[in-house]
Amino acid sequence: IWVQLRQSLRLLGIGGIGIIRMSGENCFDVLEKIFVPKKKQPIEEIKGYTMKYGHIADSTGSVVDEVLVSYFKAPKSYTTENMCEINSHGGNVVVKKILELCLSNGADLAEPGEFTKRAFLNGRIDLLQAESVIDVINAKSEKEAKTGIKQLEGFLSEKIAEIKKEIMDVMVNIDVSIDYPEYDVDEVTSKQITNMLDSVGKKLTKLEKSFDNGKIIKEGIKTAIIGRPNAGKSSLLNAILKENRAIVTEYEGTTRDTIEEFVTVNGIPLKLIDTAGIRKANDEVEKIGIEKSKEIANEADLIIAIFDASKELTQEDLEILNLAKNKKTIIILNKMDLESKIDENNERLKAVSNSILKISALKKQGIEELYDEISNLFELNEINLDQDIVITNVRHKNLIEKALESVKKAKETMENKMPLDIIAIFIKDILEDLANITGEIVTDDIIDEIFSKFCLGK
Ligand code: GDP
Repeated sequence: IWVQLRQSLRLLGIGGIGIIRMSGENCFDVLEKIFVPKKKQPIEEIKGYTMKYGHIADSTGSVVDEVLVSYFKAPKSYTTENMCEINSHGGNVVVKKILELCLSNGADLAEPGEFTKRAFLNGRIDLLQAESVIDVINAKSEKEAKTGIKQLEGFLSEKIAEIKKEIMDVMVNIDVSIDYPEYDVDEVTSKQITNMLDSVGKKLTKLEKSFDNGKIIKEGIKTAIIGRPNAGKSSLLNAILKENRAIVTEYEGTTRDTIEEFVTVNGIPLKLIDTAGIRKANDEVEKIGIEKSKEIANEADLIIAIFDASKELTQEDLEILNLAKNKKTIIILNKMDLESKIDENNERLKAVSNSILKISALKKQGIEELYDEISNLFELNEINLDQDIVITNVRHKNLIEKALESVKKAKETMENKMPLDIIAIFIKDILEDLANITGEIVTDDIIDEIFSKFCLGK
């Protein structure tokens, strides 16, 4: 029997309700020792997915809290085991006390990810689905949550199963040929194998490629806003953040003293680098020097280079342009509400990027066009989350790459006209790589590593 607070301990605060979750064959026995329902009823009569009202009391009969208890009966529960959830009043004291009562009456404390791990070990979900539970919990943007949920529903697992079936269908024929060499099936089989390997290779390649988009969905496009002092960096940052204030999250940046802010604009997740630096510079305490801009630009997936279009390009502007060379860059001509001295036909700008936009950060004009341009540059419009499967997990990507490697080797053995039993070994390698992804064959170390990333209570 495992017991745990449902909320992560790190997030533990005062909430309206607290939930203590127990899973295991005998969890109702523990519950019975501490829960005094208003209407007593034998456990056999209580249906799953129902709730009962009552009190939690300690061994002396003293009431700890007024609670609602949900019952889940095996196999219809998150873990497939008997489960119950005690909904108490929130706050550390009461919740902790109930947890202690569960422990002193025979429950063990659950590890992070314990419940999901049990769901996996008991076969209710595969490893892919278990991993996607973490992704859904940690999702920072709607797109990310959506990919996580799709995976949780088993879309990626289905895709892998489909690929495996394609291989198995051919494997059966190969095995027949190996076992009964007197039948002359070699010709047919070899053609079948080649077709299968081509088709499997294509599907796996598509999955592998989707990782780039998956990475964007998961981590956001690392974006640097660079420009000389007074070009309008801070005004642009504010225009972006203000409109989307509700969903800004701050992170420690990778370089010392930088803060990164994660913001989703029109469904595009951006990770803005060194927003603190931009703000500081604006307070006139410190101006971002070219060195610092260089550092930020180096780290970025996308550079937004901003220029004051009401002035001629200065030496500093040219240095900024230089930083943006050979990078994905959008050039912003700011202050379009004023009379322009430079425009999109400027040769120096055109030499660095084809994406040149006129905006007014102050009047918040042209900001939508900026979002559209980002979408186009990263081909985000082409990600169709409702149809395409997107890989977001490095473990999966590595295993898919490994499977592709095995496909390549199998193809080589075919081209070299190796005997069927040798080819079969390579084809079985592909199956093994795929089985590793879904967790059909997977070592305890890997399982432990995956579930350790979970928060407590999930
Ligand atoms: P930073 O030093 O690059 O962060 O630039 P700021 O965003 O602080 O802007 C510098 C000055 O230019 C401020 O006085 C802003 O109000 C002004 N400014 C910024 N954007 C615009 C714009 O689109 N039009 C006009 N007219 N002024 C702007």
